[in-house]
Amino acid sequence: MKIEAGQVVVMDYSVLDAAGEVLEHNAPGEPMVYLHGHRNILPALEAALGGKAEGEQLSVTLTPEQAYGPYQEGAVDRVPIKYLVKPPKRIQPGSLVRVNTKDGARDAVVVKVGRFNVDLDSNHPYAGKTLTFELEIQAVRAATADELSHGHSHGVAGSESHHD
Ligand code: ZN
Repeated sequence: MKIEAGQVVVMDYSVLDAAGEVLEHNAPGEPMVYLHGHRNILPALEAALGGKAEGEQLSVTLTPEQAYGPYQEGAVDRVPIKYLVKPPKRIQPGSLVRVNTKDGARDAVVVKVGRFNVDLDSNHPYAGKTLTFELEIQAVRAATADELSHGHSHGVAGSESHHD
């Protein structure tokens, strides 16, 4: 089955920076699952996956503009510490934290720490980076009616709860 809109794609992935260092990858046996054609992943990545099939491996290199945007110097958000998700006991500049925003939780790097607030680098952690995605497609299946109406996948088999 070739990947097209309305299909769920199950794949192993690694993300590498321009120096070839692995920034992240899925845990063994916990593949990434997404619904194709619903902008659930980076559009340039989705475009590269279209037409590929189960068993194929591909390597897709995206410019910062195609990935998470250019790095903006001095882009800082001041956030009350209480908005952090499970704040570490000792927060220091350079710490990676999760912050609740109106668009959901996101990762951010601490620039400066105050008594009640932290200044967070508002750039995406991968902003400014050219990223290479190494992908191996494990399975392609038709989405269920629920998945299509929700606009996202419900796990490898389509039966998982997504309310986490
Ligand atoms: Zn759903």
